[in-house]
Amino acid sequence: MKRAGMYRRGKWLGSPVHILLALSLMAVPGLAVQAHGPHVHGQAVMQVALDEGTLHLELKVPAMDVVGFEHSPADDAQRRAVEDAKARLEEPSALVRLPLEADCSPVSARVNTALADDGDDGGHGDFHVTHVFECAAPEALGHLDVALGGVLSGLERLDVEVVTEEAQARTRLQHGNQRVLMP
Ligand SMILES: [Zn+2]
Repeated sequence: MKRAGMYRRGKWLGSPVHILLALSLMAVPGLAVQAHGPHVHGQAVMQVALDEGTLHLELKVPAMDVVGFEHSPADDAQRRAVEDAKARLEEPSALVRLPLEADCSPVSARVNTALADDGDDGGHGDFHVTHVFECAAPEALGHLDVALGGVLSGLERLDVEVVTEEAQARTRLQHGNQRVLMP
């Protein structure tokens, strides 16, 4: 992966916020539809940013692939399904398994979904998942194993975009290929 000029060491201001901003500004042809328009069922994008020892993961996944519907819950069973999915997505291992040598600890996890409120969700609800880890030995973070099973088993394809202080890369995962090499 070619080094991107804007990510040269020393140019970063050291805050994960800047990496996330850069991620959001990254032009990624072919992903624009999922990022800005109606999602495609079975497909999602996960953004990964490593800034020194801080690892940010952000995933927007169609609710259809998580709970099997994408409107506001119509009954108690659907309300329970949404709450259960949120709880499972908040678990530290919901998105990735990290190499033990990197000594990463979960710092925070947040799950939002438009399904949880009764407002208009536009017919295509998502779960928006953010996990943050602090890694004592980030140099040992050579790869991530993405948890495509479990609560994410409805996904057929996941594009993972990784940005570090020095490089960026995009990896397309499908069942049977769940490993992302850090650039
Ligand atoms: Zn949809």
